[in-house]
Amino acid sequence: MSKILVIPGDGIGTEVTEVTLSVLKSVGEKNQIEFTLERALLGGCSIDAHGVPVTEETMEKAKQSDAVLLGAVGGPRWEDIEHHLKPERGLLELRKQLDAFANLRPAVVYPALADASTLKREVVEGVDIMVVRELTGGIYFGHPRGKEQTNGGEARAFNTLVYSTSEIERVAKMAFEIARKRRNKVTSIDKSNVLESMVLWRDTVTELHDRHFSDVTLEHLYVDNAAMQLIRRPADFDVMLAGNMFGDIISDEAAQLTGSLGMLPSASVGNEGAIYEPVHGSAPDIAGQGIANPIASILSMAMMLRYSFDMDGAATQVEEAVRKVLDNGYRTSDIYEEGRTKVGTEEMGSLILGEL
Ligand code: NAD
Repeated sequence: MSKILVIPGDGIGTEVTEVTLSVLKSVGEKNQIEFTLERALLGGCSIDAHGVPVTEETMEKAKQSDAVLLGAVGGPRWEDIEHHLKPERGLLELRKQLDAFANLRPAVVYPALADASTLKREVVEGVDIMVVRELTGGIYFGHPRGKEQTNGGEARAFNTLVYSTSEIERVAKMAFEIARKRRNKVTSIDKSNVLESMVLWRDTVTELHDRHFSDVTLEHLYVDNAAMQLIRRPADFDVMLAGNMFGDIISDEAAQLTGSLGMLPSASVGNEGAIYEPVHGSAPDIAGQGIANPIASILSMAMMLRYSFDMDGAATQVEEAVRKVLDNGYRTSDIYEEGRTKVGTEEMGSLILGEL
């Protein structure tokens, strides 16, 4: 039995998650799989109920689940509270406790939405990229770090870009395994022409490839060149693997190719479990209006089927259903253009269910 912890969170998080659960139920019935669902609070709603953004109990439930399906957290109501009690702290703590070392961010340009990109249709058509970003190491966490006064009275601040072989190997292994389920190509991004830590990155990725994944095509790009090629010939990329900081930047650049926040799913995968969530936040400006786009959440659930439950076929069914609904001209307001049919959150969910 597959155990899922559902954390709708705040704002539109609750609205899109409900719709996603109805799609998940249908997938379960269709494939004769029983999902056991439990629910928990995290973020602003947890602060209201328990005074903290995440409780020990929620954390325990998450660790005992096969996967966590999350909506979004935060909102203006909780903006002025102390930093360590903010809704987002709950999410960061959850990622930390699950030791989520890899962030998976797909960027897919649907033919029906290709004109929503800021790049020309002929450049973005066919884009289907998976960015695999290392999430718990690199310069965001390296020591020493800090700020000090020099003898001359000037301020000096520093951070450390450090990676160990094992940190690189585990995320690279994930990238190669994902590539095998896709178009079998990994582009590893580094800056090994300048940084020692990135020489280790390139050597480790190459060695792992030659030892265990020689069936996968591997190419290396310096990050500056990768940033250029990504807007020049994005359809050539399959899996892009990068460390924490470079992955942070490249994944947002890839996301922008698709042109729509409401369409972007993500996963944070670790040793103790995995969290599947849309890239967008709780969208307080439209919360409660029933107009949020549920597709990012539904596609996050499809990622959960593929990566936590090895249900590749079911994941593809969901992705195809989304594609068909878009091809048929249905749009939520965030992706609406003239001549299409505007629908709300629940109606979009029902249409996708219909296609399933
Ligand atoms: P946001 O992603 O919530 O919204 C940005 C804009 O995109 C808004 O105009 C919103 O209406 C629109 N939008 C987002 N998702 C949409 C969807 N599914 N359908 C239609 N339109 C959508 O970012 P923000 O406004 O910067 O942040 C709002 C709150 O969410 C803040 O409290 C922030 O801290 C939090 N946040 C949470 C997460 C998370 O839970 N992972 C991520 C980002 C922001």
